[in-house]
Amino acid sequence: AKVEEKLFQNRYLVDAGRPHIKVKAHTTPSASLLAMTTLCPAGCYTQTESGQVEVAADGCLECGTCRIVTRKTGEIEWNYPRGGFGVLYKFG
Ligand code: SF4
Repeated sequence: AKVEEKLFQNRYLVDAGRPHIKVKAHTTPSASLLAMTTLCPAGCYTQTESGQVEVAADGCLECGTCRIVTRKTGEIEWNYPRGGFGVLYKFG
């Protein structure tokens, strides 16, 4: 099955008003941050018309890629979601 079909089987509980990933304010994203617009498996990162990179953490798989990729630039704040929120993986 395509990855989108598999992802559809996971449920995602949004912790409203408490996003667990934030992109810090910036005028120009680093190459690492910009790369997240193609690297994030859940498509959470997008580039605005004015060039900044935004994250919409709904649907985040908590894979940690964005945290690793931007660990040297420090452009994002990343925390695991509070207990009970975030991705609920379905097994089997
Ligand atoms: Fe995307 Fe993974 Fe970062 Fe979540 S943790 S926003 S799925 S790269």
